[in-house]
Amino acid sequence: MRYIKIGQEPQSFTDWKSQENDDWKPTYKTLRGQIKAEVHDALLAEQGYTCCYCGMSITSDISHIEHLQPQNEKDPDLSTDLSLAIDFNNLLASCGFSDKSKMTAPEYEKALHCLQHCGCKRGNNPLSVSPLQVDCADFFRYTGSGEIRPAEEPDKHQSASETIQTLNLNYGNLVAMREEAIDQAVQGLEELTAEDLAILIKSYEQPNQQAFSFAIAYILKQFLNPKST
Ligand SMILES: [Zn+2]
Repeated sequence: MRYIKIGQEPQSFTDWKSQENDDWKPTYKTLRGQIKAEVHDALLAEQGYTCCYCGMSITSDISHIEHLQPQNEKDPDLSTDLSLAIDFNNLLASCGFSDKSKMTAPEYEKALHCLQHCGCKRGNNPLSVSPLQVDCADFFRYTGSGEIRPAEEPDKHQSASETIQTLNLNYGNLVAMREEAIDQAVQGLEELTAEDLAILIKSYEQPNQQAFSFAIAYILKQFLNPKST
């Protein structure tokens, strides 16, 4: 998981919400078409086209708009504030599907595993650690074989474990994709100086479009400082 700094919401979204009147209230259910697509695209761009939870590469087809505080329009028993459902500060892009009909059968088959983790798996369950927390990356460790583990610090361990479980972040396909991304990133590292390696780690930690970049940064730090493993 990597910290996501929420950006500016699309003007079309602001304008649409400003049309609220006594007879019409904007709701997530009525957010459709071009305006919804622009919100989705803005979220993808702010996250470097990677999933807010697992970090895999996503597009508008292989992702959905995720509500950090769950929207309650589907479940009126939940007491969440309705306005949060259309609050840009509560929206993220998670792997999953937005419109299956736009996908070819092979694309759908390839992305089917997304139903088993991240936003699709989480449903309305609360999260102990969220990508909107500045220090969220510090809650997790990674192994060279692609697994995610909770940080060992007592103040982080429990909430990290719960989050890994709620989002099912050690699902087989995810672990395999993480391992592959790490394997590719560590090729030729022995030729780098410590200074070059430090620069490389920083680039993986910055917002970027590299899948699983925070897992890669974690592994590269072990090369820089093996004593910290
Ligand atoms: Zn994901």
